[in-house]
Amino acid sequence: MAVVAIVGRPNVGKSTLFNRLVGQKLALVDDRPGVTRDRREGEAQLGDLSFRIIDTAGLEEAEAGSLSDRMRRQTEAAIDEADAVLFLIDARSGIIPDDRAFADLVRRAGRPVILVANKAEGKGGLAGAYDSFSLGLGDPVPFSAEHGEGLSDLYDALAPIV
Ligand code: GDP
Ligand code: MG
Repeated sequence: MAVVAIVGRPNVGKSTLFNRLVGQKLALVDDRPGVTRDRREGEAQLGDLSFRIIDTAGLEEAEAGSLSDRMRRQTEAAIDEADAVLFLIDARSGIIPDDRAFADLVRRAGRPVILVANKAEGKGGLAGAYDSFSLGLGDPVPFSAEHGEGLSDLYDALAPIV
């Protein structure tokens, strides 16, 4: 079964996406950045696609613009195992230096990447989605993990890979 890693800085909605795809509250979601302490894995279902999914933890907060060693190691380990990476950004807050640090890790691993502009429901998400072109990870999939919007575009992006 293919393995998909969800990667991104704390608070972009990784665990919310994980919970939506796994359909169980296996990952802890919290308003405080970085609250998910442990990496979670589950079997995801998206239409007729089934795959293993890894929710990378926020771990402790790093200084802005830097990644803690633990966070970096855990992210690298998940990417290493993965056949594809869902790289999440927060479309409402736009791209911040931490996004670029995580994007560098993803790019270095050479795995297929799907750029997901989360929190794009309503109109608040447009600026961040345009901003995310500058990451050089391709066209963003506008998405809302909380509201379940963008699932069919995510399906189209994942179907050739998993
Ligand atoms: P993580 O740290 O990347 O795992 O992020 P979480 O999944 O814990 O979510 C962080 C915060 O963003 C929580 O308050 C979520 O409810 C919120 N969130 C997640 N997805 C969405 C979304 O699609 N839209 C909005 N507006 N908020 C979201
Ligand atoms: Mg989390």
